[in-house]
Amino acid sequence: MKLFDVYPVNDITITKAQGSNVWDDKGQEYLDLYGGHAVISIGHTHPHYVKRLTDQLSKVGFYSNSIHIPLQKELAEKLGKVSGKEDYQLFLVNSGAEANENALKLASFYNGRKKIIAFKKAFHGRTSLAVAATDNPKIVAPVNETDNVIFLPWEDQAALEKTFQENEISSVIIEGIQGVGGINVASAAFLQKIRSLCDQYNAVYIADSVQCGYGRSGKFFSHDHAGVNADIYTMAKGMGNGFPIGGIIIAPKFKPVYGMLGTTFGGNHLACAAALAVLEVIEQEGLMANAAAIGEYLITELKKIPQVKEVRGVGLMIGIDLPDELAHVKKELLFKHKIFTGEAKPNVIRLLPSLALNKEQADHFLNAFKKELAN
Ligand code: PMP
Repeated sequence: MKLFDVYPVNDITITKAQGSNVWDDKGQEYLDLYGGHAVISIGHTHPHYVKRLTDQLSKVGFYSNSIHIPLQKELAEKLGKVSGKEDYQLFLVNSGAEANENALKLASFYNGRKKIIAFKKAFHGRTSLAVAATDNPKIVAPVNETDNVIFLPWEDQAALEKTFQENEISSVIIEGIQGVGGINVASAAFLQKIRSLCDQYNAVYIADSVQCGYGRSGKFFSHDHAGVNADIYTMAKGMGNGFPIGGIIIAPKFKPVYGMLGTTFGGNHLACAAALAVLEVIEQEGLMANAAAIGEYLITELKKIPQVKEVRGVGLMIGIDLPDELAHVKKELLFKHKIFTGEAKPNVIRLLPSLALNKEQADHFLNAFKKELAN
């Protein structure tokens, strides 16, 4: 059987990984500033994470949600404490798309409405509602097409207000910092406006925190910087540091009804152990504060580089906008300097490293980047 070839992969094979470094099958070391697309939150193969998962696997790896799984309660309590959302409720799934799918559905169950507001350049996943709320027609199959999603321009408060007046809005879904769209940080004023309109019209505020959440911005949720509480937060990526797990954090006003949401694998023993290990390390090693400090350092230093058009981001979610003629630098960072980065459009370099990235590693990148730009 051949692979269904949908990924444009390079030919590097990673056979070892530790912290913010990976090694290929020839023993070549790389600095990983991509974290497998914002997934590696506490660093590769962290000893506490490996131990917790291995111990769990040797006891019980999986049963189903038809039995009592105390680890789920433990995870909910820990998440409440670390995120500060102690009075919220947790529902566990397996991916970001599934988290968003359930959040949009729950909102519609709640207020009985159908219309969703999403934003230009948004990315929410590839399942039916999530992809319908994603601003990329290339990944929407005819079966996913719906007129229930209204796309609005980013940061346009007037358009937002008008759309609320003219439609029965069920929910607004927004990334506090757009990731795939090129690292666009929503202003506090815009998020506060969404909050007040959702309150006024009894609509549900969904904070897609799949990429920008879980401490990456220096606070647990990027919406925390604006002092805004969402009704539902969706999470995945960094939640499991590579183990597939997602979740939605749900405000107290939503009342669960048996069977309204469900999944076979969501919240299994191993996934909970992975998510707990991640939170324990974030807490014990002060990784949110580290993400804030190293992120600020990187952003400040990057802004000093004359060839860079714009630097956007908060914490360790950074977009470096380059002029078109310098778009090739990303490839040189990888092949000449052995540094993994991400991209959004060919000319935006995205940095999504582990929250444990240190200053030495940040400097290593800055030196390589400056050297390449000067060539
Ligand atoms: N939301 C956002 C903001 C994302 O960046 C992504 C993944 N790039 C998703 C949702 C979908 O997550 P998954 O691939 O785990 O379904």
